[in-house]
Amino acid sequence: VDRAAEPSWTGPGHTSDGDPIPLLANVGSVTDAATAVAAGAEGVGLFRTEFCYLDAETEPTEAAQRAAYAEVLAAFAGLPVVVRTLDAGSDKPLPFLSGSSAEPNPALGVRGLRIGREEVGVLDRQLAAIAGAQADSGASVSVMAPMVATAEEADWFATRARAAGLNRVGVMIEVPAAVLTAQEVFGSVDFVSVGTNDLAQYVFAADRMLGSLAGLNDPWQPALLRLLALLGRAARETGTPVGVCGEAAGDPLLAAVLVGLGATSLSMAAGSLASVGNRLASISRAHCIAAGQAALLGTDPASVRAAVVESISAAF
Ligand code: PEP
Ligand code: MG
Repeated sequence: VDRAAEPSWTGPGHTSDGDPIPLLANVGSVTDAATAVAAGAEGVGLFRTEFCYLDAETEPTEAAQRAAYAEVLAAFAGLPVVVRTLDAGSDKPLPFLSGSSAEPNPALGVRGLRIGREEVGVLDRQLAAIAGAQADSGASVSVMAPMVATAEEADWFATRARAAGLNRVGVMIEVPAAVLTAQEVFGSVDFVSVGTNDLAQYVFAADRMLGSLAGLNDPWQPALLRLLALLGRAARETGTPVGVCGEAAGDPLLAAVLVGLGATSLSMAAGSLASVGNRLASISRAHCIAAGQAALLGTDPASVRAAVVESISAAF
């Protein structure tokens, strides 16, 4: 994408017929937060909190976490921010948490919320820090857990988060099992957010860190999109908001497909907001839906993309 050539974008996100699609930023630091605000983000769909822990030899105190989160949240006073609880393990082992570094298959091991289940105190102190930072900053905070596989895990997390004083709670959809039991998962949460990076990894059993497997981790793969269609249908039936915060949301053409399959908001690197916002503003909701249906008929990434291009060009 030639971003220099992109007309400026002022938001808020919408289809050409005026249907709102909030366009949010993925942030992981104070610098990211400033960039996101400058780029016109309507809020944050994924606040990665690992920055607070990654270089720590010991667990940061609740007070230190609260201050670090509040500094990021302060940039979004009055705006929605989805804070993700610690997503350690796998490619992000932490020195003060035992276990994950010795696993033979860390991506399939104790990572994300699974660490929180083993180290409940670590999770509870983070939830308390997030609740405190919400009060300090004036941002409208939601919280979500990574790497949730079952409805029972979603319910366990939601109960702890609400007990900490956080009243809008969600989970990430990154494990195929959570899609296949979406109706039950939705029963405990206020929203979900799809992590397409990990969902692709687990659908294809293909390590997302391996460049040689990038073809399988391509978000245009029909198997991934058909799974998202299942999720979108379940979400419509229950009225559950579904964000997408993986890399797929930052691809302007794929963004239209995601909306057509049921995404109600999109969260991306700040640098993609203008191109996604401008593209969505040129396509009606009906044409997003048609593009989503066309995508489901493709047999490989290239044919999916070709079907979507054809479907969308028919709109003009
Ligand atoms: C994802 O898995 O798509 C995601 C957004 O989370 P992360 O890339 O931090 O794992
Ligand atoms: Mg992930």
